[in-house]
Amino acid sequence: MAVSKIDFNCPSCGKKNRVKIKNIYSKEDITEVLNRNVFKVECSKCKNITTLDYPFTYIDDKYIIYYNMEDTIEENKIKRSCKTFDDIKEKILIFNDELNDILIEYIKLFIESELKKDNIFSEVRYDSLVNDELRFYVINKKEYANIPYSFYNDLLNKGKFKEVKDAAVIDANTCLKYFHL
Ligand SMILES: [Zn+2]
Repeated sequence: MAVSKIDFNCPSCGKKNRVKIKNIYSKEDITEVLNRNVFKVECSKCKNITTLDYPFTYIDDKYIIYYNMEDTIEENKIKRSCKTFDDIKEKILIFNDELNDILIEYIKLFIESELKKDNIFSEVRYDSLVNDELRFYVINKKEYANIPYSFYNDLLNKGKFKEVKDAAVIDANTCLKYFHL
């Protein structure tokens, strides 16, 4: 079992606790991972619930995402590394909708540059695939921006992709290394 123990001091009563946490999550845990319940731990003394962020690996049939962990699994799947919880959450959403994350990062840059023309400076996150549209969340506007699936598909067919080796970080800073038109 991929389980380890970590210590934390209860912020409510100060008790030093040792809890077991899982290092590997899979498809069955997706809801608990996405809503961050996997980070919730209980103080053995006062029962206060604390959120504890820790590294783990998320393994799906088709992909593996390392959340602040080393690439150690020898399997021929898509592999990615993520450093923040928002990043891994977004990756899981993208891969579960069977989309190409490199292209999604590219489209996010495109949306961000379009918003800049209207003096809106905001980070954009992939949210969901609704009917024939890709939905992105514009954080500073608290609104969604929708992109037709056909736009995505056009870029997917026209673009040139470079193979991603090992568990790379694919984000706004790196996606252009792997994609061009
Ligand atoms: Zn406590």
